[in-house]
Amino acid sequence: MTTKEYIDMSEENLLHTYNRFQIVIEKGEGVYLYDSEGKKYLDFAAGIAVYAFGYGNKKYNDAIKAQIDKIIHTSNLFYNEPAAVAAKRLTDITGMDRVFFTNSGTEAIEGAVKTARRYAYDKDGTTDHEIIAMKHSFHGRSMGALSVTGNDKYQEPFKPLIGGVRFAEFNNLESVKELVTDKTCAIILEPVQGEGGIYPATEEFIKGVRKICDDNDILLIFDEIQCGMGRTGKMFAHEYYGVKPDVLTLAKALGCGIPVGAFLTTEKAASLKPGDHGTTYGGNPLATAAVNVVLDLFEETDVLDNVNEVSPYLEKKLDELTEEFDIVRGHRGKGLIQGLILDVPVGEVIQKCIAEGLLVISAGSDVLRMVPPLTIGKEHVDEMIGILRKALQ
Ligand SMILES: *Cc1c(COP(=O)(O)O)cnc(C)c1O
Repeated sequence: MTTKEYIDMSEENLLHTYNRFQIVIEKGEGVYLYDSEGKKYLDFAAGIAVYAFGYGNKKYNDAIKAQIDKIIHTSNLFYNEPAAVAAKRLTDITGMDRVFFTNSGTEAIEGAVKTARRYAYDKDGTTDHEIIAMKHSFHGRSMGALSVTGNDKYQEPFKPLIGGVRFAEFNNLESVKELVTDKTCAIILEPVQGEGGIYPATEEFIKGVRKICDDNDILLIFDEIQCGMGRTGKMFAHEYYGVKPDVLTLAKALGCGIPVGAFLTTEKAASLKPGDHGTTYGGNPLATAAVNVVLDLFEETDVLDNVNEVSPYLEKKLDELTEEFDIVRGHRGKGLIQGLILDVPVGEVIQKCIAEGLLVISAGSDVLRMVPPLTIGKEHVDEMIGILRKALQ
């Protein structure tokens, strides 16, 4: 079949919820992807911050294949070996006490929201608790996750959403304080906002929110689905602030391609009890074998050092682009999650990059988002900048 035939077939049969770029991805190798016509692309999207170790990592692929040959799925009615090990390792590296594995980021958010509601319910027996979320946030597309996503366009057609959610200004502590009531059960935020435009939180803000939560017995939920797992140069972005959440959500690079997410809680916040929550697939042996091999790779390679070495170089190059082009206003980010702020529609620039063999994505209408594999070298930054420069011209 030709590329056009695959695209037409997809458009005739898939629900049209995405305006896709007109290429069919066939395979990947290292930090490069190939389409069905054999064209090569440098990948600065990584499946949206998923493929932390690039494509075709032998250790990763071998581990997945070995687990497939043993068992893929068991159900949560039984224990399984990879989940036991993955849960222990995740609590160790996060300092959290309990893990619930999910199939996606959205489901991790659902679990976090239920945890907060249950926690508050256990305290006062009432059911009208409130959550404070941030403007420009993104937490997912299910009704619960959408309810805490600060984007009117995503929310409007699906109202009424879950009640009691109020939106504060990100990095504006006063705006959070104004929304706190004796009904507030959680404050949810991304330490680096991803989808909403790549906004890193300030230390003052994160510390201030932590204090509000401590003073009022409110659960602090950090959504590190995109900014976690080494992307910022530390294993978790919140480590930069020296602030621990009560609930932490992970997904994207947690499985590096196998769909798996998780929410983790402290013992105090572990409010969900038998019967309160469940999932058929969540935490199955295949998914948690992926988590284990991903954690192996973080332990055995110098990938975090690589992020810390390559990202200042990337930022320097983005500074140069800002100097060079009037249509580039600047950049924002932390480590290998960077957004280039443009004065022209970002979609057009992305189309040109793709034509020239570079995959990048957007974050809002004016931000070009770069979330490459964490294994990229400076030579890949140079290659990316060369293509981007052509596209901007
Ligand atoms: C992608 C993302 C989600 C949703 O995860 P899915 O796996 O797409 O359901 C939630 N929060 C953040 C910060 C994300 O980047």
